[in-house]
Amino acid sequence: MTDQRRVVIVPCSGIGKTYGSVSREAAYDVTEDLRPAETQLVPLSLLVLGDERARAAVADNPAITIDGCKLACATKMVKEGGGTVAKDYAVLDVYRRYKQFKPQGIAELNEGGQQLAQALAQEIAAVVDELKVNAEGSRNG
Ligand code: SF4
Repeated sequence: MTDQRRVVIVPCSGIGKTYGSVSREAAYDVTEDLRPAETQLVPLSLLVLGDERARAAVADNPAITIDGCKLACATKMVKEGGGTVAKDYAVLDVYRRYKQFKPQGIAELNEGGQQLAQALAQEIAAVVDELKVNAEGSRNG
């Protein structure tokens, strides 16, 4: 156990939508592969259901949200829960930056979708690193 703050990653639950699948895949890439020690995945569905631990994690830590469309369910839910959104991503905007990765598929993303998720995960990892620097800076200062 550690009392180190973690960055909470909240992907939207856009089940049945390709961009929703990219959102979840990017969240897994960050929390399982790129920054497992610094981040924690909080599924939107748990927040919607009012899960105590999910709500506490969002209330106590900075959050990075990933939304599959402009309705921005993950970002709204974190804000409604009193959390701090350090950075919000919309998959469509991310896709505009990486047009070479064309996502397709829902239950299983095509290679373009996987690559787009990985590109997004890299961006999120960089933000996580910045947040950590800030947290250390404020502790030392
Ligand atoms: S942000 Fe869009 S894709 Fe994601 S859960 Fe909400 S409506 Fe669905």
